[in-house]
Amino acid sequence: KAKEAGRDTLRFFDPAMQAQLQRRAQLEADLRQALSRDEFRLYYQPQMGADGQMIGAEALLRWAHPARGMVSPGEFIPLAEENRLIVPIGGWVLETACRQLAAWVRDPAMADLTLSVNVSPEQFREPEFAERTLAILARTGAPPSRLKLEVTESLFVHDRDESRETMRRLKEHGVTFALDDFGTGYSSLSYLKRLPLDQLKIDQSFVRDLLEDEASAAIVASTIALSRSLQLEVLAEGVETEAQRAWLIAHGCEAFQGYLFSRPVPLEELAATCQAT
Ligand code: C2E
Ligand code: MG
Ligand code: MG
Ligand code: MG
Repeated sequence: KAKEAGRDTLRFFDPAMQAQLQRRAQLEADLRQALSRDEFRLYYQPQMGADGQMIGAEALLRWAHPARGMVSPGEFIPLAEENRLIVPIGGWVLETACRQLAAWVRDPAMADLTLSVNVSPEQFREPEFAERTLAILARTGAPPSRLKLEVTESLFVHDRDESRETMRRLKEHGVTFALDDFGTGYSSLSYLKRLPLDQLKIDQSFVRDLLEDEASAAIVASTIALSRSLQLEVLAEGVETEAQRAWLIAHGCEAFQGYLFSRPVPLEELAATCQAT
């Protein structure tokens, strides 16, 4: 027994793990400087309607690291959530997205688009979140009704009343809400009737396996039906093939996002996608 425990302890000095810890500490130090060094970029991924028209876009954060190149949000967002850097970073995302949204309103080709912005639970739970967001909208002149905030189920596991109050305050001004990665969280479905959501986003893991796996197909079909009966919009994420799109349309899905249409692109390229549709 003692020997086994000894072996376990030794694992902490594993050089590979040591290197990983070092990499993480360095990344965290760099992340602290990234805002002031202006290293963040917003990319935009088109969202399409059933008729093939572009109806909106999702803003997706990129970090242009001076040495590592583009770092994926899958790597730095969890880190930023742990050390709460997500609050100022998320503020920058909202500000940048709203400035963009205000510019679109003046451009006839982009004037009807909705802009979806991801919000982390840590950011959303800040007591000032609603007021800060309303101030950004007012300052940038972005129309609140064209801003859609993407939240995840994890937000509703605890503190449902505070979250609902924040949502209500923003909805008063016309801001809408999407539930991202629907079906991957652990919270009960009862929040769907208590929270003022506007859209469900079917998680890409279900869409990916749709045509090969009956369980995924059943989950997607039920989610579409559920959205319709609750009068929520429904959007399928991660649509990569025409066959997936056809299946989704046949099952009543109305909005789509995925590599089939476009990867997330810098702003200049989004305008081109929009003009092409
Ligand atoms: P998400 O909000 O669910 O965003 C969708 C992710 O799926 C994006 O990854 C997008 O590039 C990717 N994707 C889109 N279409 C396809 C497809 O057809 N196939 C596949 N395989 N993937 C597709 P990305 O940009 O790496 O972002 C990952 C996650 O990081 C996002 O997931 C979101 O949770 C988080 N994130 C990104 N930007 C922000 C942000 O500004 N704030 C916060 N809090 N989180 C963000
Ligand atoms: Mg999202
Ligand atoms: Mg998602
Ligand atoms: Mg996600």
